[in-house]
Amino acid sequence: MSKIPEHILNEIQDRCDIVEVVSSYIPLNPAGRNFKALCPFHHEKTPSFIVSPDKQIYHCFGCNSGGNVFNFVKEHEKIDFIDAVKMLAEKTGVKLPEYRQEKGEDSSLVSTIYTINDIAAGFYSGLLIKCAASTDVRRYVEKRGIEDEVLKKFRVGYADSSWRSLADYLTQRGIKHEMGLKAGLVLNGKDNSFYDLFRGRLVFPIFDVRGRVLGFGARVMDDSLPKYINSPETIVYKKAQHLYGLNFAKPHIREKGFAIISEGYLDVITSHQYGISNSISSLGTALTVEQIRLLRRYTHKVVMVYDADQAGEMATLRGLDLFLEEGMNVKIACLEKGHDPDSFIRKFGPRGFDAAIKKAKNLFEYKLGILKEKFNTDEPEAKAEIVKEMLGTINRVRNAVVKAEFIKNLSAELSIKEEAVWEELKKLGKGNRMSFSYAQGRQATGSRGQETKRQVSISPAEKILVRLMLEDASVVDTVKGSLQPFDFKSPDVRHLIETLFSFNAEGTAIDARRLINYLEDRVSPHVISFIVNDEVRIKDKEKNIRDCINVIKKENKDRQLKDIQGRLSLAQKNGYKDEAKDLLEEFNRLLKTGS
Ligand SMILES: [Zn+2]
Repeated sequence: MSKIPEHILNEIQDRCDIVEVVSSYIPLNPAGRNFKALCPFHHEKTPSFIVSPDKQIYHCFGCNSGGNVFNFVKEHEKIDFIDAVKMLAEKTGVKLPEYRQEKGEDSSLVSTIYTINDIAAGFYSGLLIKCAASTDVRRYVEKRGIEDEVLKKFRVGYADSSWRSLADYLTQRGIKHEMGLKAGLVLNGKDNSFYDLFRGRLVFPIFDVRGRVLGFGARVMDDSLPKYINSPETIVYKKAQHLYGLNFAKPHIREKGFAIISEGYLDVITSHQYGISNSISSLGTALTVEQIRLLRRYTHKVVMVYDADQAGEMATLRGLDLFLEEGMNVKIACLEKGHDPDSFIRKFGPRGFDAAIKKAKNLFEYKLGILKEKFNTDEPEAKAEIVKEMLGTINRVRNAVVKAEFIKNLSAELSIKEEAVWEELKKLGKGNRMSFSYAQGRQATGSRGQETKRQVSISPAEKILVRLMLEDASVVDTVKGSLQPFDFKSPDVRHLIETLFSFNAEGTAIDARRLINYLEDRVSPHVISFIVNDEVRIKDKEKNIRDCINVIKKENKDRQLKDIQGRLSLAQKNGYKDEAKDLLEEFNRLLKTGS
């Protein structure tokens, strides 16, 4: 692997604050000198993910992932180290030296497809801008009241009705048809011919969180069918993993503390035009676990916006249970019949929409309301049906107190005994069909995240001593006078100690975030962040250093004694008398030394 010079890594780190970088991905809350958050790398309800501005390091005490700013971006973006460095170099304006990276076929195909998507987005939006005022598309855009500024921001475009506009344009730009095909924008015709996927439609580029164009959705401008067509899934576009508008909405979601989810492209675009900038869309599908987890990086609160018809559908409501499974708080705002957010906002303005959002009900209230309308609650069978549906939701609630509260309310609403509801809940257990399908969904995506805890096996004394050495270089001198690298048990710690000793000898400043880069291929970053981000306060430092040194000496001595004992008993068993005698002497000598 080609290495990026250390001074460049240092320069990038000097120019970017880990708190700023991490908080551009997940909401951080101040906690003393540090910041805390729910870990983005494993599921948890209480925050154990800590970012230290002083040390410029993060660590999760739940799953033990940790490291410096590069490691965070690498883990979060699921990219390799070099790409994480590149991203941050770009952000901070640090120039990277030229280096050759052997690109796999896949990664070069990925970047080609991004490029083609970007070219296509530019082409379509150029066509829309050039369209005369009298054309169908212009009239349509005007009728929908979309302003030019927002059209440009979302790079909305127009595909004319010719069969080969884009295909020809791509050829002019030197892009082979096969690549257009792989990007899903061009289709195979008869006799080796090619033609455009989108014709006579308004085109919406779909972005990832970083704003790169993944694919497209396209809408007709009259009543013809199909109303929408979308790019097929490609090597870069996986529909279930993205949320439309999130690249623009993410800072506003964080600022407002919640996200508004609707269904369509125009719902999002109109919302943003009217300043409702925390609005995103599910791209017309039921939300997936991946989409929910993506959103969870920015907020734990969601308001789903439905029109009256749709919100009543049980399938829609059942889909929302998934939010509860993922520990999210979900509310439902219901718009007047026949309205989607786009038409609603244009009719009632952002204030009217805001009021509708404020009136949103939590999933429990909302679902129960719908069920009570649907069934005649005088009949016991109907009550049983409602309980069954509601328990499907209540069963997903992770918090026991909230669960108990819901059950209490449910039984009160239906005038039935609470015990009866608890009994039904017990019956659900694991055999429940719904929970089976959810479990499958979780398993399928579980491998993407890092859900297992990483191991760090370091004795407390070694941990404290290394931490103190990293905090204060003068401690290195003290330790150097009493211990050798091989006195430490953990191989990771031995590497660290060797490096600290040599840095100390050279007069190089010690800095944990740099040490992580320096030891990159020897010590895993999470080991260093584990040691450094320890929150335990050390009161009497001098005494602690002495104690740790003594404990390490003792631990080391015990290890050696044990080793000699093992060899001794082997020698005795085999009758090697001389060797046994030597070992016994060694054992006794060692026993008398030191403490
Ligand atoms: Zn974690």
